[in-house]
Amino acid sequence: MANLLEVKQATKRFGAFTALQGVSIQVPKGSIFGLLGPNGAGKTTLIRIINQITLPDEGSVYLDNELLKPQHIKDIGYLPEERGLYKSMKVGEQALYLAQLKGLSKKEAKERLKYWFDKFEITHWWDKKIQELSKGMAQKVQFIVTVLHRPKLLIFDEPFSGFDPINANVIKDEILQLRDEGATVIFSTHRMESVEELCDHIALINKSRKILEGKVSDVKREFKSNTFEVGLLTNNTNGLYDTLNDKFDVVPADFRTIDEQLKLKITLDQNTSSNQLLAYLSEKAEVVRFNEVIPSINEIFIKTITENE
Ligand code: ADP
Ligand code: MG
Repeated sequence: MANLLEVKQATKRFGAFTALQGVSIQVPKGSIFGLLGPNGAGKTTLIRIINQITLPDEGSVYLDNELLKPQHIKDIGYLPEERGLYKSMKVGEQALYLAQLKGLSKKEAKERLKYWFDKFEITHWWDKKIQELSKGMAQKVQFIVTVLHRPKLLIFDEPFSGFDPINANVIKDEILQLRDEGATVIFSTHRMESVEELCDHIALINKSRKILEGKVSDVKREFKSNTFEVGLLTNNTNGLYDTLNDKFDVVPADFRTIDEQLKLKITLDQNTSSNQLLAYLSEKAEVVRFNEVIPSINEIFIKTITENE
């Protein structure tokens, strides 16, 4: 898959402090790319470089294989972390103004805004002043303005931070739909909720460096450890535990069940397959649960960051 955006070895210094150190990322066309990392990692700095708000001290950015230039700004929809709307302007007036700045005619802007305001059920906000809106409400308006001109690249810096869970979910679904309609999406977050359902690619930034990047499925494959969570029905719990413990790497597992089960996590060596384990277990007990343990992005995030301390 071709890349829509490529950052090569970007470095950014603020005085003696290096906010970004040789960071490269590749964002495939049509993907949702999660830029993950703790507070202060350098995510916003990288996003500001991509949006040509700051220049990198070293490195370069390519959009569709072209070196980034001012004309590319219209190809990018950007929701900044510091959401800035004019507080005393009315919602509709301001949305129309911003839409026209992005090159839409007034008529087009009105039509598209109507569509989005209807969709979000906020038509009655049109004549309110921005200062009358809560943070989350204003953020919804800004989200609309960001996507309205249908740019090929959308960049959301911490898009969920001002939202309650219900509205965060609305935004998550919209991001998925925008991707399905052909946009490429980059979003940053320091919180791992939503990442699993949204991203197909991630990059993990920590202390100004990229420490992990890839397709979510590949990253998970790399971090899984051939471990299976099993639930067994037996009338010889202790005996079976000992037998299995002699043969495999076994620890007790903790999951909710409605009946009494022997609950275990079993890690296999590279030479043993899940089928072999299942065959062995089914001779000894009734197997009522058999799941491969796949690490969550949150677990991978914490593990990788802790190891990089
Ligand atoms: P993140 O978005 O991952 O939380 P940022 O990119 O905002 O992190 O910041 C990375 C680091 O760079 C932080 O330590 C921040 O204080 C510093 N930084 C960002 N912008 C500036 C600036 N304009 N001047 C000085 N330091 C800055
Ligand atoms: Mg930030």
